[in-house]
Amino acid sequence: LRAPGAATYNAGVTKSTRLRILCLALLAVAACERAPEEPARGVILISLDTLRADHLGLYGYGRDTSPRLDALGRESLVFEHAFTTAAWTLPAHMSMLTGLHNHQHGVVGLNAALAPTSPTLAERLKTAGWQTLGLYNESPIRPEHGFGRGFDVFRSHQGAVQAGEHLAELLPKLDRSRPFFLFLHLFDIHNGPLDDAPGPIYDCPPPYDERYLPGARERLPRISERELFERTELDAASVEALTALYDGGIRYVDDTLARWFADWDARGLLDETLLIVTADHGEALGQRGLAHGHGAPYMEGLRVPLILRHPDGLRAGEREAAPVQLTDLVPTILDFAGMQRDPRLPGVPLFGSVPAARPLLLLEPRNYDVVIAWPLKRTHLMYGGEERWFSHDLVADPVELAPLTLDEAEFTRLRDAARAQLGLGYPRPIRAQWTEAELDQMSALGYGGKRDEADDEPADAELEPGD
Ligand SMILES: [Zn+2]
Repeated sequence: LRAPGAATYNAGVTKSTRLRILCLALLAVAACERAPEEPARGVILISLDTLRADHLGLYGYGRDTSPRLDALGRESLVFEHAFTTAAWTLPAHMSMLTGLHNHQHGVVGLNAALAPTSPTLAERLKTAGWQTLGLYNESPIRPEHGFGRGFDVFRSHQGAVQAGEHLAELLPKLDRSRPFFLFLHLFDIHNGPLDDAPGPIYDCPPPYDERYLPGARERLPRISERELFERTELDAASVEALTALYDGGIRYVDDTLARWFADWDARGLLDETLLIVTADHGEALGQRGLAHGHGAPYMEGLRVPLILRHPDGLRAGEREAAPVQLTDLVPTILDFAGMQRDPRLPGVPLFGSVPAARPLLLLEPRNYDVVIAWPLKRTHLMYGGEERWFSHDLVADPVELAPLTLDEAEFTRLRDAARAQLGLGYPRPIRAQWTEAELDQMSALGYGGKRDEADDEPADAELEPGD
């Protein structure tokens, strides 16, 4: 990795390649009896919770929220149209870390945990001899849902500062002769705990809270954070202030990553490592009236950034327009690790040729069902007991202001055809157990609507034939 503004990444020539060339030269003069020990391969998967793709410079945002990620993008393969599987933390991360669609893993409510016989990415890698580290912010990512399976270390933090402490402790302990997988989840862009005092919802530290709009906090209405969070009619001044605070959180995380990347580079940790930066979903920011509301099935919640830096410079600096999904990450990582593909996984390795016409499915069982066949996005909306079917042309109408007519029969036909193209399914989820205190903590973060579901049996995940 290079700092922004430094020399362009030298595609195809890593430090270890240079070492090999040097050693060969030395061998030629009979001075090198043994090749220096090379580090094994690594994968670092960074999930920046709640990060909208279109609020990053590399995706065309006007504010300087992301100089470090922009620089990373210039030496990486960047996906223009990357989608989550549902616009909230739990199912999206389960798809990211198993490679399964929501209707396959079934972990779509706080009541559900991954079936013990459905393998996680960490389990697959650990079985193959990889060291596995998972650092996650307290959120719906928890061991109760099966997220910890396969990790040698699966440790929670409360923000980027503590995550940095854990990294400083754990990374030097890695055995560099063995491959490693690091999953790193940051929640600092997400809203913080909501209380009854007036406040900003987004809790980025100073000076980031003032960076894009001095006095942003004071511009918000004098109502409780909870009330602001749930408000459905926001005036332009409130949206401007909330957006400035949200953007401050992005810059805070970007500056944090800049320090970590420099440290990892200095340790040689990135020489043989596939580095992936993405998000589980975006954020509404008043776009449909709601202050937060990343749960709705619109592009601001569904589209995520996706940046893949290959250590050999593969496709460095390229932009890929074919639509892709978080379910593609596990096949990509297995491919990088030299492991066999699992035909049951629906995704494709992203450094290969990605099919442009592949339909993508998104699902939140009580709220929506979406089929994206680029550039058409078809939606079945189920909010509030009312059902509607409509579609959008994402090229002609990228912010989805002009819905096109769609009937139920047409939607069902397209969705079923898309599902039929997927691989075989997996066993249904098992029950997850949450304590009351944990549910209270989730409710304070805005997951209150999910609390009811925690009492239900896990939803039947509409499994594919063959499970
Ligand atoms: Zn999330």
